[in-house]
Amino acid sequence: MPEEIAPGVHRLATDYPHVCGLPLWLHVIDAGDELVLLDAGIASTPEAATGPELRKLGLDLADLTLVVNSHAHPDHMGGNAILKDHSGARLAAPALEAGWLEDNEALLAELWGSDPAALALDEGERADLLGMLGDRVRVDVLLRDGDLLPSGERPLRVITTSGHSPGHIAVLDERTRTLFGFDDVQGRGQPYLDSSVWLAPLYTDVERYVVGLNRLLELDFDALVPSHGEVLTADQGRRRISESLEWVDDVHELTVMLLRRRGSLTVRELAGAIGTELGDFGGLCLQTVRMARAHLELLARQGGAEPRWHHPG
Ligand SMILES: [Zn+2]
Repeated sequence: MPEEIAPGVHRLATDYPHVCGLPLWLHVIDAGDELVLLDAGIASTPEAATGPELRKLGLDLADLTLVVNSHAHPDHMGGNAILKDHSGARLAAPALEAGWLEDNEALLAELWGSDPAALALDEGERADLLGMLGDRVRVDVLLRDGDLLPSGERPLRVITTSGHSPGHIAVLDERTRTLFGFDDVQGRGQPYLDSSVWLAPLYTDVERYVVGLNRLLELDFDALVPSHGEVLTADQGRRRISESLEWVDDVHELTVMLLRRRGSLTVRELAGAIGTELGDFGGLCLQTVRMARAHLELLARQGGAEPRWHHPG
């Protein structure tokens, strides 16, 4: 039975643990005239999980009037097309990520394809990702920082945090002071359900990730709700935000240390080091590659590193 985590807010289970070995929760909010679903899951989620979960509450996919995507990662927007088909709900998502939300190829090329020497998808991985992404649909409502979601009388505030992705948003339910952080607050990573390996944090811009986390610290909230974990009290949430900031410092320290010691450093080398020395993250993966790139880019902006192109032959 879906748990009511705050008055009018139910937490819905998904099929993501079975598909990807990680927890993933969606949330449905009763906003009077509007029934709001926060995030869409992957393409299979609406029919495999969200529909059945809503029926336990006496609701149906067709009752949804607004679907919100926190950001353009497959587990947060893959279900859009199916949800739209079943409900006709308006789709609201960060304006900054409309390009990725409406074009799978752009997302694959720009997120997974940024550093081909460190990470290249094989055909099977590409097919798996496209399967989770599903068909793309046009975003109806483009969200900007400070907006209220078009959710009737229940004020749901949009806070642009970015960092984890270029336009990531958090949503604050002002009535219950429930803060939906989605993938904003990643601590030192997340253990897979069936393995000793952890999923590393992911951010594509260090400074924006830090600014976004600090913005969350400034908010008045009673609960912090992550997509991939349990609901946190205000104290637990603030601690986890602090841990997330400490992780960034640790990666930066490792980056500076390795660059000093070796004289030069590739994204691939740094990602491998992050993925083995700071935890058991399986070395090279999207998360470690994008963090490595983000920290090297920050050093370059600060004058602490000089980017070079090098002929591989
Ligand atoms: Zn994400």
